[in-house]
Amino acid sequence: MKKNREDMTVRELEAEVRKHNRLYFLEHKPVISDEEFDRLVEILREKAPNSPALTELVSDVRATGVKVRHETPMLSLDKCYDEKSLVDWASKFEGDVIASPKIDGVAVSLRYDRDGRLVQAATRGDGVEGEDITPNARRVHSIPQDAKSLAKKGKIEVRGEVYMPLSVFARYKGEFANPRNLAAGAVKQKDPAKTADYNLSFFAYDLLGTDVATEDEKLKRLAAADFPTFEWKKLGREQMQSAFEYFIKRRDKYDFETDGVVYKANSVAEQKRLGATSHHPRFGIAYKFQGDSGVTTLIDVEWSVARTGAITPVAIVEPVELSGAMVRRASLHNMGYVRKLGLTKGAKVLMMRRGGVIPNLESVTEPGKGKIDIPRACPSCGAPTREEEDFLYCTNAKSCVRSKIAELEHFVKTVGIDGFGDKLLEQLYESGIVTDASEFYELTMDDLMQMERMGETLAAKLLKNVESSRSIPLSVFLQSLGIRELGRHAAKILAGFGTLKKVTALTEEELSQVHTIGEVIAHEVVEGLKKKKPLIDKLLRHVRIEKEEAPARGGRLGGKSFLFTGVMLAMKREEAQGLVEEQGGVAALSVNKDLDYLVVGDGGGAGSKLAKAKKLAASGGKVKIIEESEFLKMIKL
Ligand SMILES: [Zn+2]
Repeated sequence: MKKNREDMTVRELEAEVRKHNRLYFLEHKPVISDEEFDRLVEILREKAPNSPALTELVSDVRATGVKVRHETPMLSLDKCYDEKSLVDWASKFEGDVIASPKIDGVAVSLRYDRDGRLVQAATRGDGVEGEDITPNARRVHSIPQDAKSLAKKGKIEVRGEVYMPLSVFARYKGEFANPRNLAAGAVKQKDPAKTADYNLSFFAYDLLGTDVATEDEKLKRLAAADFPTFEWKKLGREQMQSAFEYFIKRRDKYDFETDGVVYKANSVAEQKRLGATSHHPRFGIAYKFQGDSGVTTLIDVEWSVARTGAITPVAIVEPVELSGAMVRRASLHNMGYVRKLGLTKGAKVLMMRRGGVIPNLESVTEPGKGKIDIPRACPSCGAPTREEEDFLYCTNAKSCVRSKIAELEHFVKTVGIDGFGDKLLEQLYESGIVTDASEFYELTMDDLMQMERMGETLAAKLLKNVESSRSIPLSVFLQSLGIRELGRHAAKILAGFGTLKKVTALTEEELSQVHTIGEVIAHEVVEGLKKKKPLIDKLLRHVRIEKEEAPARGGRLGGKSFLFTGVMLAMKREEAQGLVEEQGGVAALSVNKDLDYLVVGDGGGAGSKLAKAKKLAASGGKVKIIEESEFLKMIKL
């Protein structure tokens, strides 16, 4: 049994890192993905931040090994994955912001003497101490060997990123997985001539040792002194997000790999005031294009029907933290993807949040044992499924999906959770996030932010609306289940039994005895409650049921029952039913022998109910047939 990396000792982790470095750099046969390697390094860094295995490459590609202490620590920038964190970061200082692409390269420090000659080059190392790579840096053609115009009789330090241009990397594709790792190996070659062979390039991003008021000015001076600089933008903070989008679009046009956008406070005075944590300077932040990755266990695959009738698989995984958010599920796109990945229950899987937002299951790193079945019957309506290339369809799609979304809509409307319109419900349903009413209560900010046209403010409001609906009166709860014949009035009557337990224990026979409930309704309600048992159980994990007072019997209408037929002119039928209940009457659901009044609306249109009531009355029943105007008098007495 392979040991979980999280459980490995530092020594074991170091051995792993070295093994994969060797496979990668020397044997050119990586056996794990870059993401996985990064993850491995991350675990080691957490456990042993100073482990030599973090900075060394195998001996053959190692440079002099001479340590260089940085005069100012070379801290790496903190990362973020969403606009909110970026805005929070920028709220801590005044003035403009500088934005530039984040280059995925190797950070180096270059020291120039009073005459502007390059005297020492070093890698970042652990931030405090790096490795001397001076002879190699002399062979990187875009690193100026002379910086006279900047030095002006004072020592200076230029910091920047050594990288491999993508046009150069194209030669090594297939051999190496990404240009960053190759650049890291290339810059540390024992033989500087070999470094030269790799055609590395350099970008400068920082200038130390001279008085400059702004970041913008630094970059301008560096550019003027022939240091290659990347494209940068000076922005007001309201433009930060649009700059992010701008650099995403530019991404494909650059001859280097970028993995985000770097933002820095423009004012150097502000930068100094902000200072640094033990790991990161506070004046800058890297807003990453792509989220972190992590390995977790696949628990199961759930299938849900999309509006198109396609049955979409969703991975349910052991919670894993990616880019600061807990991920528990991820869409698997289609049946073909499940087959292609070769998913099994209990498999170790690699998860990533693409674009920092949408979690994706990338690959299986270790297969599990449980087989994953492709459903032969639609999980929603039970109709047979049909395969078409990579997709699985419900053969009864039209009514199947519409009814699922209608159920969700009925629930939010009945319970009074505002803000969930048809479009949003459709998206939530189709993405497999809310497939039944209980899942409204499991919604997170991250879930909602995946939806189209969703902003933080709206998402927060929706969550608040859900939160405030965790306590539900029994009759409302019963009505929210979407059981046929279990509308507002039947629900009120049922609530009179006191508790949900008592209601669900009712038999058809018992229920049909109840005043104003006939056999048909009793049957539908009892069957419906049985069918909804799984949903009821799920809901009860999230909501509390409030007891209700039984409808007052002593009111003006004295427990008499009223049924309405035809179009009422004075008010809507629901209103009339509400008034009946308020005044101590019972809003009946059908014409039967217990009915006291049938109210015929003045707008006409009375049909079978009237005929039935007339028949009942003619055979000696107690029902009275009254007009709307009479009813109005009764309730206004
Ligand atoms: Zn179906």
